[in-house]
Amino acid sequence: MSQSSIEWTEMTWNPTTGCTKISAGCKYCYAEVMAKRLVAMGVPKYAAGFEVATHEDELARPYTWKAPRTVFVNSMSDLFHPKIPFPFIQRVFRVMQDCPRHTFQVLTKRGELLEQYGQALEWPGNVWMGVSVENQKVVHRIDHLRRTPAQVRFLSLEPLLGPLPDLDLAGIHWVIVGGESGPKARPIKEEWVLDIQRQCARAGVAFFFKQWGGKNKKQTGRLLGGQTYDEMPTRVAAY
Ligand code: SF4
Repeated sequence: MSQSSIEWTEMTWNPTTGCTKISAGCKYCYAEVMAKRLVAMGVPKYAAGFEVATHEDELARPYTWKAPRTVFVNSMSDLFHPKIPFPFIQRVFRVMQDCPRHTFQVLTKRGELLEQYGQALEWPGNVWMGVSVENQKVVHRIDHLRRTPAQVRFLSLEPLLGPLPDLDLAGIHWVIVGGESGPKARPIKEEWVLDIQRQCARAGVAFFFKQWGGKNKKQTGRLLGGQTYDEMPTRVAAY
């Protein structure tokens, strides 16, 4: 586990590492860049680089965190990657179920496997399940998420690469929007973000605007129409 600078979480936990690119949002994958850096630093956990790997020893960690934490699961991977065995995913879910004091935010781009495996998983209220959607081409991921029996469902529309004018937000509790950051960041348009914000307001869905991104994300900041949007879904788990 490590502290995270991501605005909508506190910590990251990576029981699996590594991934393969699946859609346009993956082009400048942060996890891949980080994995290369960690290999160069000789960090044993990243000996396999960006190859998919499971880490047994990570499964014990959440039990050791005494204070409640909001935890982004797999910032360095995709838990529903086809190379991750289903029994290992079940064990990750068992850990999350065993630790109701923490809120776990799981995010995937593999909507099909999420839906398929999701029917056989336990979904306590402290596990928030999300899909990444960067453009219109991959909005079908939202339908897979909707058919997954998670109690809290969210969308990460980041890096937002195009307009998403007709989002079906039925059964969705939270939407995060963000622009790409880094030297080759692709542009985001304010009109796309405002349109999504309006769709969320109409549907009564919590809206979080993470960042404009670009080459210097500190400079571009996270104000939208002069204000920040930091809404979060209501936690449904019983402590
Ligand atoms: S799914 Fe996520 S972790 Fe995997 S390559 Fe794409 S951006 Fe990177």
